[in-house]
Formats: sequence, structure tokens, C-alpha cells
Amino acid sequence: MERLQKIMANYGIASRRKCEDIIKEGRVKVNGIKVTEMGVKVTSNDKIEVDGRPIMKKPKLEYYLLNKPVGYVTTVDDPQDRKTVLDLIPIKQRVFPVGRLDIMTSGLLLITNDGQLTYKLTHPKFTVKKTYKVLIDKNIKDEEIKKLKNGINLEDGITAPAMAKRLKEGKSGCEIELTIHEGKNRQVRRMINSLGYKVLKLERIKYGFLTLEGVKRGGYRELKAEEVTKLY
Ligand code: URA
Repeated sequence: MERLQKIMANYGIASRRKCEDIIKEGRVKVNGIKVTEMGVKVTSNDKIEVDGRPIMKKPKLEYYLLNKPVGYVTTVDDPQDRKTVLDLIPIKQRVFPVGRLDIMTSGLLLITNDGQLTYKLTHPKFTVKKTYKVLIDKNIKDEEIKKLKNGINLEDGITAPAMAKRLKEGKSGCEIELTIHEGKNRQVRRMINSLGYKVLKLERIKYGFLTLEGVKRGGYRELKAEEVTKLY
């Protein structure tokens, strides 16, 4: 017996959290009966339908590392019909992004149909380090680099200790590198804005041990089996 949302995620419907939303939206039936509450447990003998379609065979699990350009949203379907990151990976398999990057953020984004891994990588209790290169509008003071490291008081709480360093400074702004392991919404932008700086450019250059090496902007590659094992 497993929780319905976990089984749905294992079958590649979406991430576990998104599967909870799909259940709440009344789109799931178990043995012909609509389920909207959490906590229902199922076995492999139960007939599960999503949007009227039975979920059956386990799909082959797929894992991609995408170098996201700016201008693409990280949702699967965009109500405003904007370009989504999935437009950049022309495959038949139903896949989804691991976490989010803002439309104006570029860089490393994982795409998969492995709901279990997505859950592990995005849940706050598992801490994956994410490194960002940030171009800001003015040179940053040492004491503010220290503030970024120690924690910034945002409206949804103080940020956890981070790594921050100045990479370059000049007339057109200052480049810093910031490594965080939380996934608060728009966290990097809010941390920088709270110090009075503007973010001119934001790029995720590292996700755990993965880097963008060999993947040009807008391009992608499949993860190697050993990389997937290491992420688990
Ligand atoms: N932090 C942000 O502010 N935006 C992102 O896209 C990722 C992290």
C-alpha cells in the first residue's frame, strides 16, 4: 500500500507535490470513484485514472540537464501561452522540471519524469546546493557579502547560511557568486533586493555536483546513469 500521490509520481504523472494538487482538483479516480482528499492508499491492483486516462505501465525514466535561456517559463502548461522549457526538449515522453527558475533567470535546470527524485531534490529536508552567478547594478560592500553569508531577513524567514563571494567589479556592475541550499521563491533576487541592489542578470551555474559544462544555452543533454545514482 502506497499513498496515491506517491504512486502517481512514480508513474511519471508529475512531481509528488503537483500530484497532490491534481488530486485536490478532482482529476483522479480510484476504481471509478473520484478522490479529492489526501491520504488515500492504493496498491498495484487498484485502477487509477487521471483526467479519465488510466495510468498503467511504468514509463521509462528520463533525465535531462537543460541550459535554460531567459524568456522561457518553467511550467509545463502556461495559461498565457508563453514559451516553456519543455519546448526546448522535443521528446514524446511526459516530463517536468525539477523546481523552478524565473522567466528571466538562465542556467541549469533538471527535467525528468521521475517524481520520486523530484520530490527528493526539491523537498526542504534534503538540501541540494545551488550556485548562482548574479550581476548586480553596483559594487557590493564587504559587510553586505557577510550579510548574504549569515542570513537575510526575508518576509518568509531568515535565509540559511550561504556562500557568497565577489567575482568581478567594474563600471557596468558587480558579479557575485552565491550558493544556497534552500528553495524559497525568488530567493536570490529577494536577498539581493533586500540589500538595495538590482539584479541585472541571474544564472544558475551549478546544481549539486552538476555543472553546465558542454551544454550551450538552449541546449540539453541526458544525465548519465551514474549521475542519476549520485543525485538519489
Ligand atoms: N532565485 C531567484 O530569485 N530566481 C531564480 O530563478 C532562482 C533562484
